[in-house]
Amino acid sequence: MKSVDQFDFNGKKALIRVDFNVPLNSEFQITDDTRIRAATPTIQKILADGGSVILMSHLGRPKEGPEDKFSLKHLVPHLSKVFDRRVKFATDCIGAETEELSSSLEPGDILLLENLRFYKEETKGDIDFSKKLARLGDVYVNDAFGTAHRAHASTAVIAQFFTDKLCGYVMNAEIENAQMVIEKAKKPFTAIMGGAKISDKILIIERLLDRVDNLIIGGGMSYTFFKALGGSIGNSLVEEEKLDLAKELIKKAKEKGVNLSLPFDSIIADDFNNDAATQVVSNTSIPDGWMGLDIGPQAKEVFAELIENSSTILWNGPMGVFEMSNFAKGTIRVAEAVVKATEKGGFSLIGGGDSAAAINSLGYGDRVSYVSTGGGALLEYMEGKVLPGVAALED
Ligand code: AMP
Repeated sequence: MKSVDQFDFNGKKALIRVDFNVPLNSEFQITDDTRIRAATPTIQKILADGGSVILMSHLGRPKEGPEDKFSLKHLVPHLSKVFDRRVKFATDCIGAETEELSSSLEPGDILLLENLRFYKEETKGDIDFSKKLARLGDVYVNDAFGTAHRAHASTAVIAQFFTDKLCGYVMNAEIENAQMVIEKAKKPFTAIMGGAKISDKILIIERLLDRVDNLIIGGGMSYTFFKALGGSIGNSLVEEEKLDLAKELIKKAKEKGVNLSLPFDSIIADDFNNDAATQVVSNTSIPDGWMGLDIGPQAKEVFAELIENSSTILWNGPMGVFEMSNFAKGTIRVAEAVVKATEKGGFSLIGGGDSAAAINSLGYGDRVSYVSTGGGALLEYMEGKVLPGVAALED
């Protein structure tokens, strides 16, 4: 893959797939512009070279054609501020008028296209639609790692119509950091898996068993393991159909010499509620009517010690219902341990979604090696799957 760093954009019109799927409030103001800020270095590089920029993205999940609340026009004032220039807007992402707008662009200009998903052809990966989009630029850049696992028109199919297809800085950083743990991990390597469901994470857990020294499993998914081991888990989260699989994973970890570390204890509650009554118990003896909502004090310390003594760490998923303050302590302790290990020279990758939200809300985003914005795309990459958006950029 060629990166934008290896290309001179002078006099070129760069058609960039970005991920501007940002949250908007009822007044259509952006409430979190992380994704826009992430794509800024790629856009700035092209503008600084003397190129012009055509931005294309999806926003939300429009069902049948255009819907005002999903229009990318709402982003124009914010983008004009970020880039300190007037950002032009095309009310349709394809068509004669848009082609005219694009051909009139001067170096330094930015044109934002209307929501790609106003056309069902986008998610279908329609070839004619891709060809129409491709007419708008001289060069194709993909900086939307979060959608790289989808073979959509703008994320993959379009690339075949360009001689120059490049990956942006976000895409590059995501892949390099994922490779740091999947291919270049220094030992001891500890993976921390949490969150609600094992089913979403089975493939990655299986792949990690060939690579890690320690596999920490916390959060809701750990109760399926305790049930599989014959424990009483009360009303805790469980995936009944995954009990055999949990047993299989325990056996595989043993065979491969991986230290599979399950939380010894839990903070249990009599209701799924921040103000519920709580107690601390061992995870194999949770009474009926009670549910585990966070790892307990012993588990916290055991996990923290493993993490602090690791040279490579991958963290995906919270240790409990961290959205409720009374069940956030386990996740916070793990986040602190990840920061400590990083400060001791270790490499830490926070794998998107809820663990990224937890790290950022604690203000630790800058104190870990990398916080992925990838979500599903990162998980699929780690599972060893080929991402269509990445494959399309390869020569
Ligand atoms: P996931 O998307 O699978 O990473 O799951 C994240 C969600 O799991 C968060 O919303 C947490 O509140 C939830 N979660 C974590 N631990 C538990 C638990 N012990 N019981 C119920 N939900 C949990």
